[in-house]
Formats: sequence, structure tokens, C-alpha cells
Amino acid sequence: MKESRNVESFSLDHTTVKAPYVRLAGKKSGPKGDIVTKFDVRFTQPNLEFLPTGGIHTLEHLMAEYIRDEMDGVIDLSPMGCRTGFYLTVFGDRSEQDVAARLSRVLAKVAAWDDAEAVPGVDPVMCGNWKDHDLAAAKYWANRWVEGIAKKGWQA
Ligand SMILES: [Zn+2]
Repeated sequence: MKESRNVESFSLDHTTVKAPYVRLAGKKSGPKGDIVTKFDVRFTQPNLEFLPTGGIHTLEHLMAEYIRDEMDGVIDLSPMGCRTGFYLTVFGDRSEQDVAARLSRVLAKVAAWDDAEAVPGVDPVMCGNWKDHDLAAAKYWANRWVEGIAKKGWQA
């Protein structure tokens, strides 16, 4: 039996998950009754593949910008340090399928991104490492995510 840890993902068996997926990783209610939910948005199969740094960075910019057009109450979208996916934290009680459908719409937009169009926030004022971006990798992984999720029957 695994030892109990403070960090939820340390209790997740990364060898049995099947990426891509959306997984409810936590739900908390604050002292005033607000509900906050956190999702594990996985792109690559853990310990087999990982996102290149430029690609995960560009995905972060595009997803963080456009997920807010698809759902209210987004608190945060951040890359995982292992570079296999992102955490999405939102207000309210949301289902994995609802989040997957909304992310599919965002990532379909990313996959079809016009190379001539600037990615939001890519300049030295708005970004902390603005030269470390890779739009081609972001588009490739966005497309793989959308196709993988569609195969699971979680279409937008
Ligand atoms: Zn940045």
C-alpha cells in the first residue's frame, strides 16, 4: 500500500493512466461555501512521452487565454513540472466530460492556429521567457489531444 501524501498526484499511479484525459484531481469548499475544483489535464503518457518546453509554454499561453472564453470561473491553468500536462483550477462543481468538451474546443482552435497570427503574450513585457516558444509543437500536441479525447467519446 502506498504511503499517504499531502500532494494528491503522489497518490496517483501514473503507470495505469491512459493519456490523454481529464481527471478530477481535487474538490474543496472554502469557509464561505465556494467550491473549487482542480483537474489533471494530461497530454502525454507519463514516463513514455513528454511535451517539449517550447511546446508546453505555447500551449500554456493559448489555453490560458482561450479557456476563459469557454468557461466562467477559471482560476488557473498551469503546466505540470513533469511536462506531461496541465492543471486547471476552476470555481464550481464541474464534470470531467464538461471540462474535456470545453478544452477540446480550445485545443481545436490551437491545432488550427494560423502560423502568421501572433500567439497572445509572446513578448518580453508579457512573458518571462518569450523566446522559448514552439507553435508547431503546440499545434501538434493540441491535435493529438483533441483526437485522443474524441476517441474516448468526449467530443465537444
Ligand atoms: Zn510565457
